[in-house]
Amino acid sequence: MLAHIDENRSLWALRATPREVLPSLVGDLDCDVAIIGGGFTGMSTAYHIAQRHPHKRIVLLEARRVANGGSGRNGGLMLNWVNGVEPGDPGRAAAIWRATCAGIDLVEGIIREHKLDVRWRRDGTLSVHTRESGAAQAQREVEALRAEGLPLQFLDRSALPARLRMVGALGATFDPTSGHLDGVSYLEALLPVLQRMGVHVYENSAVTRIEEGATHRIHTAGGVVKAAAMVLGTNAYTTRLGYFGNRLFPLFAHVVATEPRTAMDWSTRGWSPDVAGFDDDLDRIAYGCMTTDNELVFGGGHNAAYGYGFGGQTAWSGRADYDAVYRRFLQYMPGAGDIKVAHRWSGPVALTWNRICAMGVRGDAKNVYYALGYSGHGVTLANLAGRVLADLYDQDDRTWKGLPFYQGPMAWMPPEPARWMGYHAMTKLTGKTPRKRGVKH
Ligand SMILES: Cc1cc2nc3c(=O)[nH]c(=O)nc-3n(C[C@H](O)[C@H](O)[C@H](O)COP(=O)(O)OP(=O)(O)OC[C@H]3O[C@@H](n4cnc5c(N)ncnc54)[C@H](O)[C@@H]3O)c2cc1C
Repeated sequence: MLAHIDENRSLWALRATPREVLPSLVGDLDCDVAIIGGGFTGMSTAYHIAQRHPHKRIVLLEARRVANGGSGRNGGLMLNWVNGVEPGDPGRAAAIWRATCAGIDLVEGIIREHKLDVRWRRDGTLSVHTRESGAAQAQREVEALRAEGLPLQFLDRSALPARLRMVGALGATFDPTSGHLDGVSYLEALLPVLQRMGVHVYENSAVTRIEEGATHRIHTAGGVVKAAAMVLGTNAYTTRLGYFGNRLFPLFAHVVATEPRTAMDWSTRGWSPDVAGFDDDLDRIAYGCMTTDNELVFGGGHNAAYGYGFGGQTAWSGRADYDAVYRRFLQYMPGAGDIKVAHRWSGPVALTWNRICAMGVRGDAKNVYYALGYSGHGVTLANLAGRVLADLYDQDDRTWKGLPFYQGPMAWMPPEPARWMGYHAMTKLTGKTPRKRGVKH
């Protein structure tokens, strides 16, 4: 029954403090809000709704354990911006950037307010430009955004760490407000906070069927939850629940993590230890994140870093070529062959056709809340989603109306088998992932 959800474990999960799995749902119950999924989307939505409505009964159903999905298996970068949006007018671009920065502020605020024991850092990341025209354009954009008051900086080639110059970086945008979050330590620390707020969390409680209506009937193997409102916090798994089948494109992403090295060692190899990570501008984006324990998590940069299984599988049974990901890492950091890969793992990401995520409310009774399709930027966006969905639950969309993800009109994509054939043909021939380009905001 759970063949679509695997238990592949990340570095973050391996180092989490062990705890007993929470009891699964047994019997039927009624609630005001049922949240499906215990990742950033589900947990942040539970947090914000519970904070505003302490008397509402909120139930969260998680198929395995909290942070089982992408939230507990990602590369750790907590970035600004909405993937897929091409910056148009600088004023609009600044508004989008500020909305996502508010998502990172929310995470930091929750950690500080509840004194959570979380591994995280917020000392900035580099977005690397590898094309002449891209670097020149980025420099102009940074100047325009600085004029709008954003704290971004453009670094030309001479100011970049040596290892990035070696892969042909021509410049980079430094964002001092982004960083790294260990999602397992964050969600595990947030769990008791939610429970104290009165949220009822059930683990090992996969939703098997949904009867949507003015009152939803949400089925698990152990019981039925009747709910006046429902939140789909299932990102890449959502199509399995019968939603967004032709709008979402689950990919399976693979990453490697090195053994820890000293900050001095990284520094002599050209990595500035005071920057949380980088991503680049290639179609198969490569990214690296320096953990708080000085391990480098590296992903992307190669077809082998991603898998697409027929029908949009979310539990990967195909070949995972971690060696190819490691070889790409060595291209970024030549001479690092003595650094061992200590961990490797994979997990599902949800892409949309144009890479823009969607957050909104739907259904005849306008009581199905969704936020998904973060296309690799979910650490920030899925945490922001909790605030967005809580506002929509309160019928207040003033802050979000007009932002690219609001009530996201996710583009339609071809059904199987065309999707599977198209994906594999295109990635093999061009090394690129199919996408619809050119959404200006
Ligand atoms: C290898 C990898 C690297 C990544 N790197 C980055 C990065 O560096 N930066 C970044 O911003 N993003 C990154 N991402 C993406 C990011 O992790 C996700 O976008 C984000 O975590 C999505 O959060 P979510 O809560 O919406 O979904 P998830 O975290 O996937 O949570 C969904 C939850 O729903 C549960 N579930 C599924 N089906 C059911 C069901 N039927 N009933 C009940 N529960 C169910 C799952 O078990 C899961 O816990 C990466 C992802 C992966 C896999």
